Amino acid sequence: MQNSQDTFKKIISHCKEYGYIFQSSEIYDGLSAVYDYGPYGSELKNNIKNYWWSAMVKLNENIVGIDSAIFMHPTIWKASGHVDAFNDPLIDNKDSKKRYRADTLIEDFIANKIDKKITKEVAKARKRFGDDFDEAQFMSTNPRVLANLEKKAAIMERFTKAMEENDMAGLKAVIEENEIADPETGSKNWTDVRQFNLMFATKMGALAEGADTIYLRPETAQGIFVNFLNVQKTTRQKIPFGIAQIGKAFRNEIVARQFIFRMREFEQMEMQFFVRPGTEMEFYNYWKETRMKWHRALFPESKLRFHDHDNLAHYANAALDIEFEFPFGFKELEGIHSRTDFDLASHQEYSGKKLQYFDPELQENYVPYVVETSIGVDRMFLATISNALTEEEVPDAKGGTAKRVVLKIHPALCPVKVAILPLVKKDEALTSKARSIFEQLKFSHNCQYDEKDAIGRRYRRQDAIGTPYCVTVDTQTIEDNTVTLRERDSMEQVRIPISGLEQAIAEKLDLRNLLG
Ligand code: ATP
Repeated sequence: MQNSQDTFKKIISHCKEYGYIFQSSEIYDGLSAVYDYGPYGSELKNNIKNYWWSAMVKLNENIVGIDSAIFMHPTIWKASGHVDAFNDPLIDNKDSKKRYRADTLIEDFIANKIDKKITKEVAKARKRFGDDFDEAQFMSTNPRVLANLEKKAAIMERFTKAMEENDMAGLKAVIEENEIADPETGSKNWTDVRQFNLMFATKMGALAEGADTIYLRPETAQGIFVNFLNVQKTTRQKIPFGIAQIGKAFRNEIVARQFIFRMREFEQMEMQFFVRPGTEMEFYNYWKETRMKWHRALFPESKLRFHDHDNLAHYANAALDIEFEFPFGFKELEGIHSRTDFDLASHQEYSGKKLQYFDPELQENYVPYVVETSIGVDRMFLATISNALTEEEVPDAKGGTAKRVVLKIHPALCPVKVAILPLVKKDEALTSKARSIFEQLKFSHNCQYDEKDAIGRRYRRQDAIGTPYCVTVDTQTIEDNTVTLRERDSMEQVRIPISGLEQAIAEKLDLRNLLG
């Protein structure tokens, strides 16, 4: 496909045209960074959640699930650090009136201006030296590369220090000294940097006066921490064990211009794994690899990478992201964090209730350490669609070529699994036979019956939705009870008996193909 901006635009319009995603409140001109999922979108979203829940809860005896409320006691957000520290540094451009996160401006400057220069030098040298090229040696000796690496290190050092010390003037200085410009207009006319808390607040109770301010949760994790003992006691789990949850989270994001990548209302799939203190790095590495494996079952390796955090959050002693190559570059899809005992210890202190585990092997009580895996359903959705949307040239009926748009989503995640199509609408024998197959298959698979338009157009429609299998009923079906089964990606058709259809499709959709 064309350049990445065009690709991204195509993804957004495909999502709208085929009932995957609509702008929220569209007839009122929309609500910024809030989206609704349409008929196919909600199915895909459910399938993504099911894939995650199966991999985490169903297949692991030592992980259990919960569904905690969005509203929680306001002190929880004091204890977790969100009231005081869940801030982003905000900066406005005075000319363009556009708002940015100061940290993102600096990170993008490093990636787009400095890292790219280094990559270019390396590529040029590789071309020049061919097979003899020694990248490590080149990186450590080439003066232009060394100068850029030095510049990057100096910026990173000042940037990290300013972030750690909440030094907003320091961040502004980094932006000004490096002449970082508004990426959309090139203007360098900036306001000061200010802290901005990302939590949405509301009032609980009939009257606003005297009522407590409560927050829409900015992450699902705290619902797990505060239920740690309830769950451990009622399920009799022994450490190490995990608690998983899928649910909505809300963040008043400063910059929200990337479709469902950064939303103000979104959904998370989080798992907190409780471990003996001192063993956290072992489990951190285990979950790092295990989660990457889950992604690799769906996406090519070249589109995934690890990114270790330079700035650790207030609660973490190790953290990394699994990044996916979205149309706008490699960005965080999932976070893996070693959160120490920060949350449980803090809730213990603020609530005055013990949140400890008695370890029967050690014969001692302790506050467990936690390794967390946290992924956004919506980002996973965007990764799935970005990876799937394909334009192809295919042979047409007249011996020429035609364009085909196809969503190559993994069959186990597709919204519609099978379309049942009578070859022609006018033949009553075909339509009633196709209807009877639909009635039979609908109990085991999400099916669609479609008789409108020529068969070629119906295939294209199903390709664009991403339906992996089409069953076509023709005159031979009436004679011998066989149908054609068309596979979306290869467009190959095989003839099989109706009696074997349900089983054949079930085998192709089995989650074992992904998780086995
Ligand atoms: P970012 O650096 O992109 O703002 P984050 O580090 O704040 O993300 P976490 O707090 O680690 O994100 O949240 C865990 C996961 O939740 C992320 O990996 C992402 O998939 C998802 N997520 C976070 N914020 C949003 C958002 N505003 N919209 C959609 N998904 C989000």
